[in-house]
Amino acid sequence: MLPNRVRQMHGYVPGLQKNDSSILKLNSNENPYPPSPAVFQALKDLADPGKTALEKYPSPRSHELRQAIETTLGLDTGTVLVGNGSDEILAMLFRGLMDPGDTFVMPDPTYSLYPVLAEIAGLKYSTVPLKQDFRIDFAGLLKAAQDSNSPARVAIMAMPNAPTGLDESTDDLERFILDFPGWVILDEAYAPFGEKSFMQLAGSRFANLICTSTFSKAWSLAGMRVGWMAAHPALIDEIDKIRDSYNLSRAAQMAARAAILDVSWQKENAEKIKASRARLVSGLQQRGFQCIPSSTNFVLARVPEGNPEQARKIHQELEKRNILIRYFSLPRVQEYLRISIGTEKQMDQVLTALDEILPVP
Ligand code: PMP
Repeated sequence: MLPNRVRQMHGYVPGLQKNDSSILKLNSNENPYPPSPAVFQALKDLADPGKTALEKYPSPRSHELRQAIETTLGLDTGTVLVGNGSDEILAMLFRGLMDPGDTFVMPDPTYSLYPVLAEIAGLKYSTVPLKQDFRIDFAGLLKAAQDSNSPARVAIMAMPNAPTGLDESTDDLERFILDFPGWVILDEAYAPFGEKSFMQLAGSRFANLICTSTFSKAWSLAGMRVGWMAAHPALIDEIDKIRDSYNLSRAAQMAARAAILDVSWQKENAEKIKASRARLVSGLQQRGFQCIPSSTNFVLARVPEGNPEQARKIHQELEKRNILIRYFSLPRVQEYLRISIGTEKQMDQVLTALDEILPVP
């Protein structure tokens, strides 16, 4: 007999993963471009027995990769911990920062994995709805955390948030981090497509701040599964104790290291994504959609008729045309569609398909 905790769990539901080249896959916020050529060179070295000893275990703490992240991003030595995707990092944090039965706070909606991780770790959480304009209610989060029945010592949110794509002001974030009576986790998976990051302040200017990030989006390495967190070195050492001994394969370490060292590739890639994003947003607006201003590689857009039926219909019609996007049947966003940013050509394909689907004005 399995524990109730496991039997009653829902499990995370990822976007449909179909790797058929006839499908335009815009449902998982992947990068449409292949990674830096330096990654392929590193993988060639991996396949050369004279250069890489695959029969030997990899570096347990991914030493060279961590160093490359620290130096490239201007972080202090010892402030980075890497994981098998940032999902693993988040799972380690949920286990390492709290005891079963503890409570954390988060906005709603935000990344839908957090409640799943909470169930796995036996944690409780309280959610604070986004404001009417989809911004985060920081005062509400502080208030919820101070609930005398179950005070929360951890707050977590994606920043920019998902699935809205909205970033928050530096002032609001700073004030929240200073005022919050515990750890603040900012999941910066999408920050490289926006205007700012708090990564360099984690564990230094803000001792209670932990930033997580991933190679899956801005470095085009979703298939390799590498993420990291930046925090105070003392916290890194504690969380490191619950890490699987060799959590990153040699391939993942080498690929991610090559990717992060190619700084100009990442800058150019982010510019291309931003240009595609602007093209998609203007095309959607011309067709009557209302787009939430995005600082990410996806756009959340309210369908022209503003009702869930039309959102579902467009989602289905695009799927019939082999274009996968994401529809969430969540109360706040059920008249919205989330479209990942592809190449400009792919964005035009979406807009052309919409012209076939939408009623003629
Ligand atoms: N955080 C957010 C907000 C995400 O949307 C995702 C991607 N689903 C992740 C983290 C997970 O990234 P990774 O591929 O590194 O596990």
